[in-house]
Amino acid sequence: MQKKKAIIIGSGLGGLATALRLSVKGFEVEILEKYHQPGGRLNQLQKDGFTFDVGPSFFSMSYEFTELFDYCGIKNPLQLNELNPLYAVYFEGKEKPFLIYKNLELLQKEFAGIEDKLIEKTEKYLSAAGNLFHDSIDKVVRRNFNSSLIIFFSLATVPLKHSPKCSAACGRS
Ligand SMILES: Cc1cc2nc3c(=O)[nH]c(=O)nc-3n(C[C@H](O)[C@H](O)[C@H](O)COP(=O)(O)OP(=O)(O)OC[C@H]3O[C@@H](n4cnc5c(N)ncnc54)[C@H](O)[C@@H]3O)c2cc1C
Repeated sequence: MQKKKAIIIGSGLGGLATALRLSVKGFEVEILEKYHQPGGRLNQLQKDGFTFDVGPSFFSMSYEFTELFDYCGIKNPLQLNELNPLYAVYFEGKEKPFLIYKNLELLQKEFAGIEDKLIEKTEKYLSAAGNLFHDSIDKVVRRNFNSSLIIFFSLATVPLKHSPKCSAACGRS
């Protein structure tokens, strides 16, 4: 039987992941890309001997990649090594960069005299962000939206305590 053909517009992470999934399902896949190289926003810019990331720098939600590779029956080709410090922020005119640590004690030391009670504030923020994540991941993040109205109704199913953040997200969409 002739293979069904799928045409994917765009070779960003979304297009590449969809292409992999469809190939595994037996589709003949063609990807059309308007830029001169694949990757979409996950890309590089080279200038004067320097290489710049133009998009993502943080690798989060690694379980999504595990799920993708498991679905496709491919051995995960990524080997992740956690960095410590996670990254450094340089400000013009300042010699010393700010080092960003996962360890909150170290982070608090780094921002001593700049951010008071950093551990307490960060733990509060992380707890609120974690609650929002768990209350919205299936209702909003993992859904497709074909219209602004559907985004609005999905956000309305998220518990009321998150409404300021949901209204802000709605305003941006
Ligand atoms: C500055 C920045 C920092 C970020 N930091 C992070 C981070 O730290 N961690 C993280 O997880 N995410 C980060 N992101 C988000 C992440 O980059 C995106 O979510 C992800 O790359 C989007 O992938 P995508 O496939 O949905 O879309 P895109 O990467 O936008 O891919 C769309 C592709 O479609 C192509 N295309 C569009 N229209 C057409 C057309 N008509 N014909 C042919 N081709 C077309 C485009 O050229 C592009 O290649 C960041 C994004 C930016 C911009």
